[in-house]
Amino acid sequence: MAANKEKKLTPMMAQYVSMRRSLPEDVILFFRLGDFYELFFEDAKRAASVLNVALTKRHDVPMCGVPHHAAQGYIAKLIKAGIRVAIGEQTSTPVPGKLVEREISQIISAGTVDDINLLDDTRHNYLAAICQVGKKWGLACADHTTGEFSVAEFPDRAQLEDELKRLSPSEIIVPDDQADSLGRVASCLPYDSYAFIPDSALITLRDHFKVQSLAGFGCDGLTAATAAAGAILHYLVHQLRRSCDHLRGLSVRNPSSHVLIDAASQNNLDLVESRTGKKHTLLGALDRTSTPMGARKLRDWILHPLRDLEEITARHDLLEAFLAQPYLLSQCRDTLKKIRDIERTTGRLSQGSGNPRDLQSLGLSLAQIPTLKEDLTAVAANTELAARLLSKIETFDDLVDLLERAIVDEPPAKLTDGGIIRDGYNDALDEFRSASRDGKKWIAQLQESERQRTGIDTLKIKFNNVFGYFIEVTKAKAGLVPEDYTRKQTMANAERFITPELKEVENKVLGAEERSKQLEIDEFAKLRAQVCEHLDELQSTADALATLDVLLGLTETAQLYSHTRPAIDQSNKLEIVEGRHPVLEQTLVEEKFVPNDTLMEPKDARLLILTGPNMAGKSTYIRQVALITLMAQIGAYVPAESAHIGIVDRIFCRVGASDDLARGQSTFMVEMNETSLIINNATENSLVILDEIGRGTATFDGLSIAWSVAEHLHDEIKARTLFATHYHELTDLSNTRNGVENYNVAVREWNDDIIFLRKILPGTADKSYGIQVAKLAGLPASIVNRAKDILSHLEMNSSKPEAKKKPKAKNTRANMPVADSPQMDLF
Ligand code: ADP
Ligand code: MG
Repeated sequence: MAANKEKKLTPMMAQYVSMRRSLPEDVILFFRLGDFYELFFEDAKRAASVLNVALTKRHDVPMCGVPHHAAQGYIAKLIKAGIRVAIGEQTSTPVPGKLVEREISQIISAGTVDDINLLDDTRHNYLAAICQVGKKWGLACADHTTGEFSVAEFPDRAQLEDELKRLSPSEIIVPDDQADSLGRVASCLPYDSYAFIPDSALITLRDHFKVQSLAGFGCDGLTAATAAAGAILHYLVHQLRRSCDHLRGLSVRNPSSHVLIDAASQNNLDLVESRTGKKHTLLGALDRTSTPMGARKLRDWILHPLRDLEEITARHDLLEAFLAQPYLLSQCRDTLKKIRDIERTTGRLSQGSGNPRDLQSLGLSLAQIPTLKEDLTAVAANTELAARLLSKIETFDDLVDLLERAIVDEPPAKLTDGGIIRDGYNDALDEFRSASRDGKKWIAQLQESERQRTGIDTLKIKFNNVFGYFIEVTKAKAGLVPEDYTRKQTMANAERFITPELKEVENKVLGAEERSKQLEIDEFAKLRAQVCEHLDELQSTADALATLDVLLGLTETAQLYSHTRPAIDQSNKLEIVEGRHPVLEQTLVEEKFVPNDTLMEPKDARLLILTGPNMAGKSTYIRQVALITLMAQIGAYVPAESAHIGIVDRIFCRVGASDDLARGQSTFMVEMNETSLIINNATENSLVILDEIGRGTATFDGLSIAWSVAEHLHDEIKARTLFATHYHELTDLSNTRNGVENYNVAVREWNDDIIFLRKILPGTADKSYGIQVAKLAGLPASIVNRAKDILSHLEMNSSKPEAKKKPKAKNTRANMPVADSPQMDLF
């Protein structure tokens, strides 16, 4: 059947069908046909609805098309819809009667787009590969726009998922034979499992990097990680047909060198995303970077705080040095503001897709480096990190000079527009240009001389794409035309003529223009090649500039908000004097932020139980402690009068009562999952923030769970823990355990109202003030009053009001929550 059908296909359609057959099922093929990309069969049907273009039919074949010059926008739409797009380009010059040759030039996918309209400057766009080899989980990540390429290996799947959440890749490939199990991790694309086999992956990597072993990259023994890395390269080169020359190195992300922040904690702490926008995230509060490279790196730092004391100290030293020299700080930041996205610019240029403006912006960016280095030298003398960065930042004098000499001040965005190369840069180009200019001048003068010669004062020289230059004379004067004019066209009111002389000059002009454009394209390619020769240095310079940018942005934030340098060590201490919430202190408008102290240490105060009414500031306080710790470990200064932070290995932040309906789990289930994650992973060096756990179930269940979790954290794990809770009963723990301290958030009653003082004080909250808070929230007076009645009733005789009887719960035991306390009945 199929063979029969194919027989009837025209040669071009046969070419189409065989090309389409060589591609994966899920892609859509853009088949170049003159000025259009045409789509056929199923591809056309799928795309027409996404792109909202007309679906037509020819010889019963469904088809649709988009103009070549506007293709980018259509491709972007498909990519956004999660569809990969293959580009079938014409590779031979069309000759009448002969089939044009065509080839797949590349497949564009979400993880590999370089369309700036689809990319967020401030975020990496990662393509990831994951696989399981033996007991290890491997992850490789490539940002095709910048050339960043990294791997990591994890002992369990949960950690892999957490890292995926942090990196949030746009596309993930998995071996097809593991797709069933790994596919659940994220929406993954199955890819040839052969590419993931450790031995074949190793060969792919060795070929790519032209090395004998991967030891130089620190990948020795990381079998799962290298398998994933090899698969990425294989996928990029063989399936997507991309050049990977700019993936120059492979860095290893060692999970144990970072503070691990699981996906839930990342959300609960609003690190880089929040429901109310970037402004309300830690990233939003800290981001004062000047370049997109810096913005991307800061995001990465926030999600991967350090555990290495020396490296953290090195960052703090650099901040301190610049804070001591504010003039130098602002000067360096001003210079950085003139530096563009070197990473992505060189990424594009090395992919052959850059434009003249990329070359120009690269030149202008690199031209800033000498000034920056000079300023940095002043700091580097006694700051080790500054010295290290200085040594990584190269000056590119020759390249800057070359680009400056070659590229005009305001180059066009499109290469084919011409007018890119400066006069005086290339002799041949100058000659063509002057030939073209002279010819045009001659033609402009011709109008005047012909008017005089013929006496036709309305004679005009015009140009169109069909005839080129011609002489136009009105019908009335056509009789005066001299004999050497050749008639070319008759219009309603005018006649059009050419002369041999005019055509001769025209040929020169047009020929010169054509050739000068071609020459410019050649020159552009040469310049691009020159840039690519420096790829390694450009990448490492850009990386160092990004680091400097992040650090100077943090310095700026420290200066603006009077952040201080924390003392850091390996103790398990945590002492904060007058600490503030880094985000709220910047965004609060109505109230001024009230600072609070925190003192935790392993023996006497490792579990702080915080009680207080709703809205008092409990959640804010416990998060503030986590964020200050995290900031200290990314190398930032902290919002406090002073702080002493013992390095933490993990930060957990669990918030009760947050549904994860998307995952189809009930509040309580989510809560228990996350709690067990903490119990199973926290160590003595972790910081645990628990905000109202145990609320998603019946009161007694909830309290019992909260109680036993708190005991376990205190007795067994010994992690520093802050526990905000409604269960006042929990404060009894301090009677039997040395490491437990009770705190509450101060409020003052004023007549019948409640005033929040936002001060954290030792001791237990006396009551919940639920009714006052409900009143503040605007609950009708009748309900508020009725609630007051009920409460006083409960408080007087610890029993239910007459009208709404319910069996009373019983159960009391020493050192256990008092079940029939008035508190319990409030739930
Ligand atoms: P709780 O968890 O006790 O219900 P939150 O921590 O959510 O209370 O705080 C409620 C609101 O109070 C916050 O959104 C913030 O606007 C304000 N707030 C909290 N702590 C402070 C503080 N220390 N200074 C000023 N305002 C605060
Ligand atoms: Mg709260």
